[in-house]
Amino acid sequence: MHRVQFQGRRILSLIGVHLYILFHLLLWYVFGVKIWGKTAMMGVPSLLAGHINAAAIMVILIILSVLLYGRAFCGWACHLRGAIEFSDWVMRKLKISGYRKLRENNLLFNTSFRWLFRGIVFFILLLPVIIYWIRREYYFYFNLQAPTPLTDLPGNNNLLFSANAPVNMQLATHGLTILDFIIPFAAGIFIVFVMTFVFNYFYGQGAFCRIMCPYAVLLVPFMNLSPWQKKITRISNCTGCRACSNNCPQGIDVSREIYHYNGKVINRECIKCYHCIDICSYQTLTDSRQKASSQTKPISAYEKTPWLNSLRHLQVIEPLHPVFDFISIIFAIVCGSITSRLGGFWFYVGAIGGYIIFRKLICLCLSEKSQS
Ligand code: SF4
Ligand code: SF4
Ligand code: SF4
Repeated sequence: MHRVQFQGRRILSLIGVHLYILFHLLLWYVFGVKIWGKTAMMGVPSLLAGHINAAAIMVILIILSVLLYGRAFCGWACHLRGAIEFSDWVMRKLKISGYRKLRENNLLFNTSFRWLFRGIVFFILLLPVIIYWIRREYYFYFNLQAPTPLTDLPGNNNLLFSANAPVNMQLATHGLTILDFIIPFAAGIFIVFVMTFVFNYFYGQGAFCRIMCPYAVLLVPFMNLSPWQKKITRISNCTGCRACSNNCPQGIDVSREIYHYNGKVINRECIKCYHCIDICSYQTLTDSRQKASSQTKPISAYEKTPWLNSLRHLQVIEPLHPVFDFISIIFAIVCGSITSRLGGFWFYVGAIGGYIIFRKLICLCLSEKSQS
C-alpha cells in the first residue's frame, strides 16, 4: 500500500504562511492595496475588546477549526511554529553538539508549572483589555483594515520601540534609508531568534509551544469538545514499538494514549504535526474522526498515569525543587514585564532569557553543592 508521508506537505504549508505574510506586506506597503489589516493572534485581545478586525476573525476561525481538526492550526499554519521548526532544522544541519544531544534522544525539558506560566503570560496579553473593561471604556467597532500589518512590531510609527518606551530611536527622519528597514527588521529577527533558536537550544525542540505559548490557554479548552474532531487514531494493530512516542515533538506518549483511550490520542497538546503517523512502520495511525480499530494482538500493558511517578507525557521535568521551579516562573514574568516596556513582543525576550538564566544558575549551584 502506498504510504503517505506528511512532513513535506506540512513544511510547504508553513512556508506558504510566510509567503502569505510577505504578500500581505507587499500589497499593503508597496502597492497600497489595503483590503484587510494584520491577521495574527493579537486578534484575541481585539476580540475580547469588541474590536472585530481581520485578526479577530482569524482567531474565531482558528477556534472553530479546533472543533473539527484539533490544533492543526499549530502544526500546519502557525508562522511561529514554522520559525521554531526552521531553527530546529538549522541547528541539526549545523550539528551543534549541545543541541544534537537533546535532539537524538528527543529530550524535551519542561516545568511542572507550565500551565501557570502560560496562564500568566495569557493574562499579561489580555491586561490592556481587562483594564479597558474595568474602566468601562467600551468601544465596539468593525474594521477589517485595522490594525495595520506591522502594528506592535519594531518599526511601527517610524519608531524602533513602542511609543512610550524609556529609550527609543526615530527611523526615517531624513527620508527613507536602507538602515530604516534593516534596524527594525534586525530587531524583529532578534526577538524571533530568542523564541526559537535560544529556547530550543536549552529546552529541546518546540520549547516555546510546550512551555510558554499563551495561545495554548485559548486553544486547549476547545479540544475534545466536539464529536467531529479528528484525532490521531489506531487503524491496525500496534506492536508497542514506541517509535511514535519517542518522536513526538510535544512529548506525548502516543502508544500509551492509543492503548488506554479507545485507540485515540486525546492529549490536548497534540498539534497534528503527524510525526507519529510518518514514523510508524506498521501504518497503525491516521488522523480520523472514525472509531479506532480494536487491538487484537496482545502487547505489554502501559501504566495509565505515568506522571504520578516521574515522567509526564515523556517530557523531562528538571530536577529543581518546586520552590525554585515556581520562582523561575515569577522571575521570568518580572524580566518579561521589564523588557515589554520596549514593546509587546520584547516581553518574550525578557521572559525567556530570565527563565533560562535563573534555572541554569540554580542547577549549577545545586550541582556544585552536591559535588562539594
Ligand atoms: S503553541 Fe503557540 S507558537 Fe506553538 S504552534 Fe501553537 S500557537 Fe503557534
Ligand atoms: S503506533 Fe506504530 S510506532 Fe507507535 S507503538 Fe504502535 S506500532 Fe509502534
Ligand atoms: S501525537 Fe502525533 S500528531 Fe500529535 S503532536 Fe505528537 S507526533 Fe504530532
